[in-house]
Amino acid sequence: MSDILPVVAEFTDYFNKLSIKEYPAEGIPDKLRVSGFPYCGLRHAYMRMLQLPSSSSFLSNYYFGAGKWMHTTVQHALGCGGRIYGNWKCVNNGCKGSRLFSKNNKCPICSSVLVYDEIRLNLREYEQFSNLADCLIDGVYRTLDGEFFIVDYKSAGLDVIRDMVKAKLQNPIDVSNIAQVKAYCPLIEFKYNIEISGWILPYISRDNPKKLKVFAQRISTKEKKRIIKKIELYNKHYLQVMNLKSFKQVELLIEEKPCQTVEQYREEYRTFGGCKLSCICFERKRLLKELHRAWDLREEDFLTWKRPKGLELP
Ligand SMILES: [Zn+2]
Repeated sequence: MSDILPVVAEFTDYFNKLSIKEYPAEGIPDKLRVSGFPYCGLRHAYMRMLQLPSSSSFLSNYYFGAGKWMHTTVQHALGCGGRIYGNWKCVNNGCKGSRLFSKNNKCPICSSVLVYDEIRLNLREYEQFSNLADCLIDGVYRTLDGEFFIVDYKSAGLDVIRDMVKAKLQNPIDVSNIAQVKAYCPLIEFKYNIEISGWILPYISRDNPKKLKVFAQRISTKEKKRIIKKIELYNKHYLQVMNLKSFKQVELLIEEKPCQTVEQYREEYRTFGGCKLSCICFERKRLLKELHRAWDLREEDFLTWKRPKGLELP
């Protein structure tokens, strides 16, 4: 028995090392995604100057896959309750039946139960959103009173869920989750011409999906208008960043950056992992010095690096 213990220890050690080992991963195209909000053109330009490599590990792949599976299963289950609007497709042998932005899960052709599909929002036909990548919205919940709320499921560890419940938090800690779901509110209104009353963020445990913490807020018409203005600015800045040719244009991004104060950064723009410029962004001299340095050292493929297909070069 005792001669097997070293093997157990050795294998455990091997597992622990390999589970966190990072290996290079192919980066995804550099698109303007609502799921990446809050957006800052200056931060984006700086990240393109640095061209940090992407990496993944067993753990990051596991969390990604678990989150995806959680979405697939919870969306379908809650969709079948008849109070969630989403897209549906038929998986019955060869049937092409589908429904768009509907809470009806019965196939219009063969009457079988449809499979839930999230709402894909393409807004490129509108000039002010022309650079926005397709948004994937988990669903729109209709309350018993007939109000509409955007739903964006999040997966988290059981410890995180327990801590949030215990602390009786009013809002999730990651402010970027709020920026995303808030942006969906006026965008869905724009496309489907319905009034959105607010948003719901259910955090579901990936270890035990019966445990969850639900956050929700109402949103005013004024705030929705403010968000639209912001997305229009993001849309404009994104193209400027992807077509940057001189430092003068970088200075323009500083002038118009959406995150203007330390307070605003903390409340609205602090994304998971933080912004690499945050420690100098509100000190003009240091900011300019660092941006000059990074601009001068930018790679030759600055304009083509991770450039999405179809986005013309300047
Ligand atoms: Zn069908």
